This record gives sequence, C-alpha cells and structure tokens, in this order.
Amino acid sequence: MNMKELWEESVKFHGHSCPGLAYGVKASIIALEKLNINRSKDEELVAIVENDACGVDAVQVITGCSIGKGNLIIRNYGKQVFIFIKRGYDNALRIYIKPLPRNEEERELRKKVFERTATEEEKERFNKIRQERIEYLLNAKEEEVADIKWIDIEEPERARIFNSLQCEICGEFFMETKGRIQDGKIVCMECFRYKE
Ligand SMILES: [Zn+2]
Ligand SMILES: [Zn+2]
Repeated sequence: MNMKELWEESVKFHGHSCPGLAYGVKASIIALEKLNINRSKDEELVAIVENDACGVDAVQVITGCSIGKGNLIIRNYGKQVFIFIKRGYDNALRIYIKPLPRNEEERELRKKVFERTATEEEKERFNKIRQERIEYLLNAKEEEVADIKWIDIEEPERARIFNSLQCEICGEFFMETKGRIQDGKIVCMECFRYKE
C-alpha cells in the first residue's frame, strides 16, 4: 500500500483525520521500511509506544501490532516515541516524532476551537491548517520530522496463554491470573468484595 492508502485506512479505523494520527502513520511507515518487513500477522514484530494517543491507532492498522494480539505495549510517558522490535534481531528501532512547529495564527485558532468560541470560518481555517500540517508530516523526509535511533532493548516476553477458571459466584469464566479467593471460594474480580 502506498502512503495515501495507509493514511486512509488509518483514518477509517481511527474515525477522524488529525495530526496525532499522522504521527503514528509516519512512525509506522519508517519502521516497516527500516526493518524491511510487511504488516505483522503474528508476533514477530512488537511495538512499544510511549503514549496512548491518536497515533497508536495508526500503529495497529499499519504495523499489525495490536492490543488484542499482545504485541503492542503501551508505556505511557506522554511522548511521541514509538519503539519497534523485530524478534531475533539485536537492535530495536526507536523513533521520536518531533512536534510540528505551530504559528501564532494556529495557536489562537486552536484555543478558540477548543473553547468552542470559534466561528464557522475560523473552524474552517483551523481545519485547513491542520490538513496542511498532516500533509507536511506525511511527505517530509524522515530526518526532518523524526529522530531515529537503533537501541539495545530486552525482548518482551511473548504473549502467554493462561487457563480459565469459573467464578463460584457469577459462574462466568475468567483468566486464572485474575482470580481471587473469597471465603474459600474462587471468584472473579468483578464479584470479589473487600471486607470492611
Ligand atoms: Zn485523533
Ligand atoms: Zn464472578
């Protein structure tokens, strides 16, 4: 898929188009190129993301690292850092997407839009500026918008499979490691109550 298609797929999944999503698209495309791989079907690629914002959705769509598969790890330091580990490789790729500079006009419009005091024209202008920022980021040379490093990192454990237990109160099944014992009964976390 080319850049435009990857962007559109990400917008479809994320629900709207925004600069934050573009951060994740850019980081994911850099990663697939540098690591010379395609979208991850299984767990051969692991992503560690240092934020839980819009861009993480693009990482899931483009790299195939997802929460459900267990090969997407969120370490929320509130940073636009995306680390990709290819299993069996010594080095991991660390990508930091630098903040895009904002000019005075955009700063003012942004404030109005978020305070819900912007007029229709101001909203339109704001969206246009955002669209330009997105296009700039997506088309910019890597080194212009990102700091890219190879780092040493310990390979995260593969996703594990646990047994299921049945809760003796509600009867529903749950993952063994999430169980509690209450009055000698095995219970799920939903049914477990702390005693006064
Ligand atoms: Zn967004
Ligand atoms: Zn229960």
